[in-house]
Amino acid sequence: MNQLSDRINNLSTSATLAMAAKARELKEEGKDIIGLSLGEPDFNTPDFIKQAAIEAINQNYNSYSPVDGYSDLKAAIITKFKRDNNLSYNAKQIVVSTGAKQALYNIAAVLLNDGDEVILPCPYWVSYSDIVKLNGGVPVEVKTDIENDFKMTPAQLEAAITPKTKMIWYSSPCNPSGSVYSKEELRALADVLQKHPNIYVVSDEIYEHINFKGDHFSIAEFDDMYDRTITVNGVSKAFAMTGWRIGYIGAPENVARACNKMQGQVTSGANCIAQRAVITALESPASKIQYMVDEFKERRTIVLELLDQIEGFKTNEPEGAFYVFPNVSSFFGKTIKGKTINSASDMSLFLLEEALVATVTGEAFGNPDCIRISYAASKENIIEAIKRIKLALT
Ligand code: PMP
Ligand code: GLU
Repeated sequence: MNQLSDRINNLSTSATLAMAAKARELKEEGKDIIGLSLGEPDFNTPDFIKQAAIEAINQNYNSYSPVDGYSDLKAAIITKFKRDNNLSYNAKQIVVSTGAKQALYNIAAVLLNDGDEVILPCPYWVSYSDIVKLNGGVPVEVKTDIENDFKMTPAQLEAAITPKTKMIWYSSPCNPSGSVYSKEELRALADVLQKHPNIYVVSDEIYEHINFKGDHFSIAEFDDMYDRTITVNGVSKAFAMTGWRIGYIGAPENVARACNKMQGQVTSGANCIAQRAVITALESPASKIQYMVDEFKERRTIVLELLDQIEGFKTNEPEGAFYVFPNVSSFFGKTIKGKTINSASDMSLFLLEEALVATVTGEAFGNPDCIRISYAASKENIIEAIKRIKLALT
């Protein structure tokens, strides 16, 4: 009997989580898999944050929190937005959620009607298209090129807009390309949007601190964009807190109120201990987490140097996050070790089986020519993994 809803039957499994699960399963079977599939820092949550959580437990934080988050956490978020992004929000514009993932889901649920279009510059983070579809929206993919660092141009944005366009969603620094939009590039996109005042922008800034250029810019900083931008952020990446599940938004008041209502029916407030710990995380100076960013930068250099030695892998230089997104299409049609590689998915599977290295197919991110390699892994594992990839392909 299959009585599952059409909605769930039509939903894809998250490719990042599926690959991570597969790698875990093979490891448990005794296979020596190196996982470069999951976007998850390999660092421990810093001790000063863990300490704050322990104190919260001892202070008996055990009740439901307000649905949109503790007021002192919201105050810390407001200070963070002002300090890091020059954005002024009041408490009614902030909603704390169970990860940025829930924040994104809330946004889709409260803004989309059936048939509304959401522009997604490709490659986009794996869950965007399914979150949009699950809420009746229609993803409109805008292809970008590695030569342009996978960035959408104003002309491409203009061409993708129709009377049904409701929103545009992007991440900068981008998962999976690592690209960072500069202030000038965002201004050029905002100029296009000026002609279309009813389109919202969802700016996913969860990799804000993992930026090797060092000049993060939030599109809501432009006065003409502030009222129609939802700025999404969270602590999973920069603070190595993926499992703590805290994300948040700064948004126009009516959108924040709607997200609060939505969350009140679905999950209630996010985990209370994690919220207490995040106050400490957000109040700390960026220098406290700089060691992780420095390490990611060194790993990026290693990954790029090693991948450049593999004939057929075409890379660009990502400016942030912890991913590289090489184009592997030159292998398509070739048979190696008796296996024909016709797509990025074939390549990803080939690398898992022949090199015992887990990556993610670019198809999941809307780009069928590339694979995603996460360098949120030790240098030792990165070096060994790329050595194996090279060996398997030659
Ligand atoms: N946005 C992007 C671009 C991501 O890579 C992720 C992955 N964790 C998320 C949002 C969701 O983050 P979380 O739910 O862990 O806060
Ligand atoms: N965002 C991370 C990734 O892209 C974690 C997995 C997920 O939430 O999908 O790998």
